[in-house]
Amino acid sequence: FFVTMEDVIVLYPSPGRGHLISMVELGKLILKHHPSFSITILILSEPNKNTNSTAPNYVASSINQYMATVNSTTSITFQHLPAISEIPHSTASPLELSFLIPRLNNPNLHQTLKTISQTSKLRAFIIDFFCDAAFEVASNLDIPTYYFFTSGANGLAFFLYMPTLHRNVDKGFKDLSNMVIESPGIPPIPASDMPGAMSDRTTQCYEYFLNTATHMAKSNGILVNTFDSLETKAIKAMSDGLCVSDGVTPPIFCIGPLISSSNHDGDEHECLKWLNSQPSRSVVFLSFGSMGLFAAKQLEEMAVGLENSGQRFLWVVRNPPPNNEEEPNLDELLPKGFLERTKDRGFVVKQWAPQVEVLSHDSVGGFVTHCGWNSVLEAISVGVPMVAWPLYAEQRLNRVFLVEEMKVALASKEMEDGLVSAEELEKRVRELFESEVGREVRESVLGFRDEAMVAQKEGGSSHVALAKLAQLWKQT
Ligand code: UDP
Repeated sequence: FFVTMEDVIVLYPSPGRGHLISMVELGKLILKHHPSFSITILILSEPNKNTNSTAPNYVASSINQYMATVNSTTSITFQHLPAISEIPHSTASPLELSFLIPRLNNPNLHQTLKTISQTSKLRAFIIDFFCDAAFEVASNLDIPTYYFFTSGANGLAFFLYMPTLHRNVDKGFKDLSNMVIESPGIPPIPASDMPGAMSDRTTQCYEYFLNTATHMAKSNGILVNTFDSLETKAIKAMSDGLCVSDGVTPPIFCIGPLISSSNHDGDEHECLKWLNSQPSRSVVFLSFGSMGLFAAKQLEEMAVGLENSGQRFLWVVRNPPPNNEEEPNLDELLPKGFLERTKDRGFVVKQWAPQVEVLSHDSVGGFVTHCGWNSVLEAISVGVPMVAWPLYAEQRLNRVFLVEEMKVALASKEMEDGLVSAEELEKRVRELFESEVGREVRESVLGFRDEAMVAQKEGGSSHVALAKLAQLWKQT
C-alpha cells in the first residue's frame, strides 16, 4: 500500500516588491498550467525597523494588499522563515542586506528544505538572484536549483558575462568612465551607465554579484521574466554559449511577461475615475517605481516641463527624502499656482498609484518611467510607449536596451549634476506624442504588445518554455 507524495516546487523570492510579486506571479502561472504541482513560497522576514532595508509604508501596504488577495484566491502555501534577531553588520547598505539576509537564513533554509524533502517530492527549487546564498544549501542537498531573473534577457546576458569581463579587463567600470563596454548579444553600453554597485571592485556587493553570476551559470536553468521575440539577440547569444567562459549556458526559459494581476483592490481609485473623463491615448503617466524619489528642485523642473508641454498628465509625487514616508504637501512642493493652472488637464497622485490599471486605461498614451523591469513589461504588454528616465539599480542599462534595441522608448537625458531639466522633459513628452520618432516608438511597442499576447497563448514561446520546465520537473 503506497502513499503518493506530492510534487512540490519551492520558490525563494527576495523581499523587494518587484522581486516578491513577480515570483508569486510565477507560482500562480505554474499552478494555472500545471495544477498537479504544489507551490510553496518561502518568505524571508524583513529585519527590524532599525536597519535601513525596511520598505516605506506605501510599498509595504501595497505588498500586504497584494499578498492578501493571493492568500484568498490561490492554493499557494506561504512558509515564513523565522526572523533573524540580529544583523551582524549594522552598517550594511540596503543592497548588501539584500544578499546578506538570505545568507543569514541559510541554517533555517537547510532545515526547511530537508523537512519538505522528507514529506514530499521536491522537484525544483527556484531562487531569486539576491538569494544566491541558497545555491550552496540546495546543492549540498542535491535539489535541482533554478534561478528566476526578474529583469530582462539583455540584462541577464550582460550579467552572465560579468565574470569574463572581470578576468579580461583590469579595472572596474568606475575607472573606465569614458569607455563603452561590449558584451555578446547586447548593444554597447557606456561604462558610466553601469550599475554603481557593479562598478567598484573593492566592495562586498561586487563580490556577491560575481559569485551569483558564477553560480547561475552552474544551475539547472534560468527562468527570465520576458518573452522570446522581445529580446531575440540576447537570448540567442546566451543559448550559443557566448556569455559564459566555458561556452555552456544552462537552459534559459523565457516565461513572461508576468504582470501582477491584483495591484489594487476595492473602490476605483480617484485617478482612474479622472482617467475615465480624458480622451483616448491623451494622457502621459509619470511614475518611478517603488523607491523613486526626487529632490525638491527636480520636482519643480518636472512641474514646469509638464506645464509647458501642454500635454494631459497623471503624475505620482512623493516627498523628497528623508520625509518620503509622509504624505506630500503639494501646495508647498510644486510651483505656486501649478495645480490651479493645470487642473483641467492634470492629476497628481500622492505616493502610490494603481499602476497596472493606469497603464491599461485607454486614456493613457505615454509613460515616463524609471525603467524598472516590471514597469517596462507592464507598459509593453498594453502597448504604451515610454520616455526612459532611469534612477537606480540596473535601470540605466535598461534605458539602453529600451531605446537602442527594442525601440520602445525615447531616452531622457540628465545634465551633469543628474538633474533632468524642464526643457528636456517638455521636449521628450512632445516628441513622444507629436513627432514621427514618437510614432515609430508607438508602433514598435504595439507590435510587442501583440507578440506578448501570442507568447502566452497555447503553443506560444512562453507557454512552451513553461511546459518544457514542467516536463523536466516531472522527470527528476
Ligand atoms: N507601482 C505601483 N504604483 C506606484 C509605483 C509602482 O503600482 O505608484 C508598481 C509597479 O506597477 C511595478 C512595481 O511597483 O509593478 C515597481 O516595480 P519595478 O520593477 O518597475 O521597479 P522597482 O520598484 O523594483 O524599482
